[in-house]
Amino acid sequence: MISPKAIESFQQIHTPFYYYDLDLLRATLKEYTSHTSKHGYNAHFALKANADERVVSLIRDAGLGADCVSGNEVKLAVKYGFDPKKIVYAGVGKSDREIKDALKAGIFSFNCESVPEIKIINDFAKSMGKVANISLRINPDIDAHTHKYISTGLKENKFGISPWAFEDVYELFKTLKNIKLQGLHFHIGSQITELGVFKTMCTRIEELQKWFIDRNIAIENINCGGGLGIDYNDPDANPIPDFKNYFDIISKNLIVRPGQHVHFEPGRAIVGQCGSLITRVLYVKIGKEKKFVILDAGMNDLIRPALYQAHHGIQNLTSNKRKLIYDVVGPVCESSDCFGSKILLPTTERGDLVALRSAGAYGQVMAMKYNQRDLAKAYYSDDLLK
Ligand SMILES: *Cc1c(COP(=O)(O)O)cnc(C)c1O
Repeated sequence: MISPKAIESFQQIHTPFYYYDLDLLRATLKEYTSHTSKHGYNAHFALKANADERVVSLIRDAGLGADCVSGNEVKLAVKYGFDPKKIVYAGVGKSDREIKDALKAGIFSFNCESVPEIKIINDFAKSMGKVANISLRINPDIDAHTHKYISTGLKENKFGISPWAFEDVYELFKTLKNIKLQGLHFHIGSQITELGVFKTMCTRIEELQKWFIDRNIAIENINCGGGLGIDYNDPDANPIPDFKNYFDIISKNLIVRPGQHVHFEPGRAIVGQCGSLITRVLYVKIGKEKKFVILDAGMNDLIRPALYQAHHGIQNLTSNKRKLIYDVVGPVCESSDCFGSKILLPTTERGDLVALRSAGAYGQVMAMKYNQRDLAKAYYSDDLLK
């Protein structure tokens, strides 16, 4: 919930801007870490979901490591004070420079996505006199039942190494001296709300793991990735995702061998609900068939609806008049710059404040300057509610 006091403080701020409810983030982290510590699991926050320094600092202080998908994210994680031994690094296209920088930083694991990549990491590690810890990111061919643009674990997706390539990988390991295989990594998609998918994943992990164990290759680390979804339809009813159910499913279905460590890479589930994009109504345009609410925030500020037909709750924070049906759009010169059509809102007027909810994940980090628009700044409950 966005409190009346917060709404009052928004009146003084130039819109659009991101608002982070840090108390909700703290509560989410407390709940999350209560489960990971109970089960002895390790977690690495997916920095690509949100890279705001104050947000990430709270996550780091809660004891999570960092999950990175680019060299600059690895650098940022180091700059933000994450222990390199808690940094994991995935990505289908790691460049030479990115690999060398990560080797220098001494990260916990390269999550490798192809056979040629493993060879290149070995070459660079050799030239630097190092041994690189690697995990195999495996494509388990599982349907995550999520939007096709955010599904990553199907065999037609570009991510991960498919089981049919295991023989090649095995042969390769016999010859490469500067890599150490220390784990298997899985990340099958994002915004997964059918939790049965995670049960299927555990079964697949066991099948795939056996292939290595049968060849006497010890797997020290199992990384289950991220992907747990949040409730975009009713953020006030479900501000904190159902971590208990998620970890119950994993702990019941994942077979963990003595000495093995289990890792997770949550992104959206940690930060999604604590952020909102706050915007002001510029105009209400009455058409023949539709009424348009035109906001001062656009797809450059929050691209998820345009990029993957995502829905964000739209809330008029300053009107409680009779409800009407509107299309809610941004000012950018693209027809896809639309936050929702046929949305029921209180009668809306120029100057009203509107919140696009659940925008803490893949919101501000994806913002861009298209149409030469300014980047929205961030404000925090800790400051505004003081
Ligand atoms: C994006 C990503 C995550 C986080 O996904 P969420 O759906 O935000 O939890 C985790 N691991 C990897 C490798 C990723 O690319």
